[in-house]
Amino acid sequence: MDPTDAAFPKVAAIATTLGPGWDLSEGGQALRCRAIPCAHGFSTRLGGVSRGAFATLNLAADKSDDPAAVAENRRRFAAAAGLSGPWLALDQVHGNEVVVVSRPDLAPNARGDALATATPGLAIGAQVADCVPVLLADIEGRAVAAVHSGWRGTVAGVLPAAIVALARLGVAPADILAAIGPAARKCCYEVGDEVVAALEEISPPPEDDREGWLGQGPRRWHVDLPVVLRRQLRAAGVGSENIHDSGLCTICRPDLLFSYRRDGLDAGRMFAAIELPR
Ligand SMILES: [Zn+2]
Repeated sequence: MDPTDAAFPKVAAIATTLGPGWDLSEGGQALRCRAIPCAHGFSTRLGGVSRGAFATLNLAADKSDDPAAVAENRRRFAAAAGLSGPWLALDQVHGNEVVVVSRPDLAPNARGDALATATPGLAIGAQVADCVPVLLADIEGRAVAAVHSGWRGTVAGVLPAAIVALARLGVAPADILAAIGPAARKCCYEVGDEVVAALEEISPPPEDDREGWLGQGPRRWHVDLPVVLRRQLRAAGVGSENIHDSGLCTICRPDLLFSYRRDGLDAGRMFAAIELPR
């Protein structure tokens, strides 16, 4: 599917497929969770200017996409999410390191898989294309975090580590609102035995649990990382009522999202970003 085709669904039609509590910005660039009380968004593939495999809102500058198109896409996403400008991002390594920032001068190759800040007006983000983006916000507006959690990061505990980092910034887990964005889900996310074994170490799949993260697909195991992440959030003290899951699968929604599994290495990438108001 190519959003530049005339037959591609319109943004208004796609917006009707979202779960309750979730909205698309007018141009379709940002998916937003109504429960998050500050500027934020999960980017989509809609409403950008890139072509071909990057059509249309590729936000990654390290692919073969036209840099001018990426810059325009980034500007459009920031505006749609209500951010005051560009967002900070880390060189992600599928680990559990959380980097707390207070100024917009992150080192160019700073590594980690979550950013947290208590600084108003400082936007932070996480890049994804099947891994799970999670945005965390304090109910009182004291701090926010942007987390990248693929299966390795989930096993390493990057999301619980981000909650610890927020606690150091004065935010109790009970005051955290969590928004889980689009990611590869159980419907499509095939993995090998090693992934299942690693996840079973940290989150055994209870029998007869409708929320179970493990399923047997036609060829291989299927897993649902957002289910594991919801458990991690609850175990860390975040209230069930404060956890909001988009329910969207990157792999089976080519009308809305990019997917590494579906589209390959040299295709569009998305960001989730968040910012405290000035
Ligand atoms: Zn799917």
